[in-house]
Amino acid sequence: MGKKYVYVWNKNRVEGNSKMKDILGGKGANLAEMASLGLPVPPGFTISAEVCKYYWDNNRKFPEDLKSTVEEAMRELENVTGKKFGDNENPLLVSVRSGAAISMPGMMDTILNLGLNDESVEGLAKLTNNERFAWDSYRRFIQMFGDVALGIPHEKFEDALNEVKNKKGVKQDLELDANDLKKVVELYKKLYKEEGKEFPQDPMKQLWIAIEAVFGSWNNPRAIKYRQINEMDKQGLLGTAVNVVAMVFGNMGEDSGTGVAFTRDPNTGEKKYYGEFLTNAQGEDVVAGIRTPKSLDELKNINPKVYNQLLEVMDKLETHFRDMQDIEFTVERGQLYLLQTRNGKRTAAAAVKIAVDMVKEGLINKQEAVMRVKPADIEKLLHPIFDLEELKNAQYIGKGLPASPGAATGKIVFSADDAEKLAKDGEKVILARPETSPEDVGGMNVAEGILTSRGGMTSHAAVVARGMGKTAVVGAEDIVIDLKNKVIKSNGVELKEGDWISIDGNEGKVYAGKIKTVRPEGLAGDISVLLEYADEVSVLGVRANADIPRDAKVAREFGAQGIGLCRTEHMFFGPERINKMRTMIVSKTEEQRRAALEQLLPFQRSDFKGLFEEMEGFSVTIRLLDPPLHEFVPESEEQIKEVAKMIGISEDELRSIVKDLEEFNPMMGHRGVRLAITYPEIAEMQTKAIILAAIDLIKEGKKVQPEIMIPVVGNVKELTILKESIKQIADELIKENNVDLEYKIGTMIEVPRACVVADQIGAEADFFSFGTNDLTQLGLGFSRDDYGKFIGDYIEKGIYEKDPFQQIDREGVGRLIKLALDGGRSTNPKLKVGICGEHGGDPDSIEFAHLVGLDYVSCSPYRVPVARLAAAQAAVNYKRGKTVNY
Ligand code: ADP
Ligand code: MG
Ligand code: MG
Repeated sequence: MGKKYVYVWNKNRVEGNSKMKDILGGKGANLAEMASLGLPVPPGFTISAEVCKYYWDNNRKFPEDLKSTVEEAMRELENVTGKKFGDNENPLLVSVRSGAAISMPGMMDTILNLGLNDESVEGLAKLTNNERFAWDSYRRFIQMFGDVALGIPHEKFEDALNEVKNKKGVKQDLELDANDLKKVVELYKKLYKEEGKEFPQDPMKQLWIAIEAVFGSWNNPRAIKYRQINEMDKQGLLGTAVNVVAMVFGNMGEDSGTGVAFTRDPNTGEKKYYGEFLTNAQGEDVVAGIRTPKSLDELKNINPKVYNQLLEVMDKLETHFRDMQDIEFTVERGQLYLLQTRNGKRTAAAAVKIAVDMVKEGLINKQEAVMRVKPADIEKLLHPIFDLEELKNAQYIGKGLPASPGAATGKIVFSADDAEKLAKDGEKVILARPETSPEDVGGMNVAEGILTSRGGMTSHAAVVARGMGKTAVVGAEDIVIDLKNKVIKSNGVELKEGDWISIDGNEGKVYAGKIKTVRPEGLAGDISVLLEYADEVSVLGVRANADIPRDAKVAREFGAQGIGLCRTEHMFFGPERINKMRTMIVSKTEEQRRAALEQLLPFQRSDFKGLFEEMEGFSVTIRLLDPPLHEFVPESEEQIKEVAKMIGISEDELRSIVKDLEEFNPMMGHRGVRLAITYPEIAEMQTKAIILAAIDLIKEGKKVQPEIMIPVVGNVKELTILKESIKQIADELIKENNVDLEYKIGTMIEVPRACVVADQIGAEADFFSFGTNDLTQLGLGFSRDDYGKFIGDYIEKGIYEKDPFQQIDREGVGRLIKLALDGGRSTNPKLKVGICGEHGGDPDSIEFAHLVGLDYVSCSPYRVPVARLAAAQAAVNYKRGKTVNY
């Protein structure tokens, strides 16, 4: 006996369980688990995902003993069902279903009713006394087998089906009777011939072709694309498993049906049963949006017994799996069967609500709750909404279902390809389709939003959009989306390809034209509760980068624990200030410069006071002037004229001063601490402003913790020179005012040399803050302003996995950080260390910050909530001090 490749479940025995997702796939593992729980699951078996790997590793061959093992499992299935595979009188029919460890909705293929052929279809008709049912099952099988296993385009089957419907003058599949369906089967077979394919009458042959097709579908283009988009390739998946399941039939008449149900509302997260179903239907009819499904509530009236049983099952599953479940069920002549359960996909809002509710219900703990929400979901909740003023004048053209929240505006495109093309050129697009299919995921991914005219809340478009966090309105039935002529018609309005359209995924409303979108303010309700859980769990602190009191206020509302970076240069651009700043810059003597700085002091003092006030009780890190002075000088002729007049020099003189300030490589030029070395009076003025602002507040009885940060330090002597002057000024002011004020002096670490001599710098500094933007720029030697030209090639060729300016390059910059951290702490164990570059808001970089043992990250105010959650997840996932994987 070789390796175990097949795992069965039936009323006599169950071999798998929900923990075996790696090899059984999510579907197979949970089917086995449900069978163990005694729930009504049709019997079947799973062929392990290891076979998929074997198949692709071995030039599309199967392990040797697979054939006999599968045949044995089929015999067991015959025994427990009392039916016979290939029998003409009482045929066993099966579904052949894919299912990987991580669910990929609709990406791979399933075949139903396998085992039917020209003879057994007659037997099935006789046995069930239901000829229509038998032929409906047969035509479905031939269609799915042709499409999935043999690659005959499914549109061709649909055309054939429509031909019969049109001839009869009916619209619905349901209106076809057994004779019509026989005609459909005939046309389907003709189609096989035209396509040069053979429909195998031998069920065993059918089975093996189907099994191979499912394993083959693992590497079909849309599955590959889906894994790419969802970054699944790193997760070491073996492939898909194949589930062979005895068929149960939802298409046996009005007392039968099929549906999907969620244990909680996947849109809002509300604790209420939610679902859709169709009577007399099979398989994916609900999802495919062929008929408009009924809501689960209606099942209560149609069949209360089944309804109650379903609710009971849902409760049991949710308690058992301790998460919201998404269930597929079928009712065969009043008998309920479960065909799948999995943790349900949900909107970001629902994810948060469910996590928080489940903690309150005692179902999960806070740590688990924190892990249930993706950092990106938090970001989505700060999703844009339409500007209310613009919305008032917007032209409403129709309504659909609010399938995925947010507000989106863009140019209309009618195909996923066009969406990808336009998005590449930087256009914002809305993808409009009658319905979407798995081939469209690439286009959906780049679109601002998705609009469909068909389908329900569980349609492909809805499910995928929610997963991607894209705004979507689906099933907008009064809106005609005409792919052929590339127009949208609704309420007498006609929109062409390229016209602007706006969709509201919260209300399902659609508007013609462009409507401005705005971000909501603050955190409310469940999110703030969840983030409080996060703060309890996390080790890293989260601060914000904020330059003005308004941003500091937002940051604080979002839960920032202080300011990690205030860029003082932004304070010099106000209308009353810029000319004073310019006067300072073009001053020829120190005296002139000091006079100009003296005028800037009150502005800075009140700016800092505002920041300290908003962040009362927390540290506020203020960076001394950083950019090269050239950035402040007048550019236009008009400005030159004005400034020259104001400071009393000739225009030519001013022009030549401006010219002198020009640098070939300003980012490596006269900036940061270098300015303070040349012009100590600038740093002196800023120090005064900081300390005086702090003293003002202390006198008002407030708590202030200023931290003065010196940028671009590469040599400890730069720090010691500045430190001495800062200390002298600060201590004198404190003494003069007779207050108790503690302040800190630290450095940015953003020059590679600083990392190397961090032991020296650490001995003199109270804190380090990694300026990861410059550290990346200088560390990699990639100019931030020019790297866009080649970074695409680098990522494509796998030289860097991600844009190193977005996600810390752990292997290089990460090691520099570690070097600096170890150096700094070796001479100063109390050294506080954080990150204040763009990376401070990136979940992967935050994880790194946690791993190496930093104290905090600092990011833009809007990213603070994301960072809080990411910090907590890093803490749950990893103990600190664990060796970082560089
Ligand atoms: P997917 O992964 O795309 O959801 P599934 O394997 O779950 O595909 O199957 C698709 C549909 O077929 C589902 O709606 C499921 O309920 C139905 N189905 C699968 N197997 C059976 C079966 N043995 N009897 C009845 N319906 C089935
Ligand atoms: Mg499917
Ligand atoms: Mg399914």
